[in-house]
Amino acid sequence: MSDHHEAGAGTAHRVLILGAGYAGLSAAIQLAARVRRRGDVEVTLVNAQERFTERLRLHMTATGRPTAELSIPELLEGTGARFVRGWVTAVDLEARTVRIDDERVLSYDTLVYGLGGVADTAAVPGVEGHAYTLDGAQNAEVLAGRLEGLGGGTVVVAGSGLTGVESAAEIAERYPELNVVLLGRREPGASMNPKARAYLRSALDRLGVTVRGGVEVTKVLPDAVELAGGETVPADVVLWTSGTRVSPLAAAAGLTVDERGRVVTDAALRSVSHPEVFAVGDAAAIRQGYGVMHGTCQSGMPTGVHAAVSILRVLKGRRPRPFRFGYYHTPVSLGRKDAVVQFTRPDDSPRRFYLTGRLAARYKETVTASPWPTWTRMKKMPASGAFWPRGGRFTRVREAR
Ligand SMILES: Cc1cc2nc3c(=O)[nH]c(=O)nc-3n(C[C@H](O)[C@H](O)[C@H](O)COP(=O)(O)OP(=O)(O)OC[C@H]3O[C@@H](n4cnc5c(N)ncnc54)[C@H](O)[C@@H]3O)c2cc1C
Repeated sequence: MSDHHEAGAGTAHRVLILGAGYAGLSAAIQLAARVRRRGDVEVTLVNAQERFTERLRLHMTATGRPTAELSIPELLEGTGARFVRGWVTAVDLEARTVRIDDERVLSYDTLVYGLGGVADTAAVPGVEGHAYTLDGAQNAEVLAGRLEGLGGGTVVVAGSGLTGVESAAEIAERYPELNVVLLGRREPGASMNPKARAYLRSALDRLGVTVRGGVEVTKVLPDAVELAGGETVPADVVLWTSGTRVSPLAAAAGLTVDERGRVVTDAALRSVSHPEVFAVGDAAAIRQGYGVMHGTCQSGMPTGVHAAVSILRVLKGRRPRPFRFGYYHTPVSLGRKDAVVQFTRPDDSPRRFYLTGRLAARYKETVTASPWPTWTRMKKMPASGAFWPRGGRFTRVREAR
């Protein structure tokens, strides 16, 4: 097999962004919009698909609800950024190249690593063979096909985190004839204040979801899940939403990663081992004053914008500023007409204030739909994407870096 090297033309600084999710697209558009008229920086964005995957809507895709066709190349039109469709198979940090689909090789001067994360299907035996996931649009569509043809029976949603809750509610609302069981170590909504949690629980009850917190799934079988202690719960379909795992590419390349394989960054979002690599979104382990951030869309987009701004500062010979982010909400859909929105402190702990019902559902929909118009606006006014809560004292990191 002969490699097809694409080195880029001339002396421009080549920024290669891996992954066009919420974080990678934010980085690409922010950077491209700021360098459009300069000609000395080339921006290339690589992603597995041309269609943007709205991860926030994958539980809707899984229940056959249509979602918008959002084309990444169309979004990039007019920005000067190049789009490459392909699967990243390796990063060579020494040669500063990235291998795509095992045949093309792209060179870079600065790399932005934003390949996201997926459910941890390796944690429990049987998940990979017998469970469905919401790890991409294709997986969600396969599950949709299965649910549509089911006609009755039991769907076990394993994992009582927010993706599990949203999925269980969505499936139960769309298919009231199915018996939906939500299993997990913690009570659903465990991170919310007691009243918001009670609301969430009553909504799941109203939808007919059987909730079992405090249980550990130890095995997935073709027609059941096995719990610690030996009990089996029969299942026609198992949806696995538990845990998160990132691509092994970063670790294989030799970047310093944490115990979950995420790229460990400095305060400016540069890899601690390779400062020419920035890491963003779910694929990055980013420390704030309150601890290492957990992946969300609300934090992922700011990381992309910050990486873009930092790259430009470095190119100007200036020090990049530390990234600071404080969480502000946890919006959880409970089917199409209901939701609960827990407002949070910057460290993601719950405040007293929360929204429920149709107002919360409208809030959730507004948040879910907001990235695309945000990027469209950012193409013309990059500074419009640079606002997010910095988190005040919560995000101050005290130890020397
Ligand atoms: C059902 C569901 C509901 C959610 N709801 C919320 C919510 O309400 N609020 C919130 O803040 N967060 C929510 N999240 C979490 C949120 O979706 C993630 O935190 C967010 O998508 C992370 O963005 P990212 O850019 O890091 O990664 P992603 O959005 O996952 O993007 C990564 C991109 O990289 C591509 N990619 C991966 N590997 C390769 C490869 N080797 N080669 C080429 N391309 C590759 C993928 O195809 C994808 O396009 C939800 C998640 C799910 C599943």
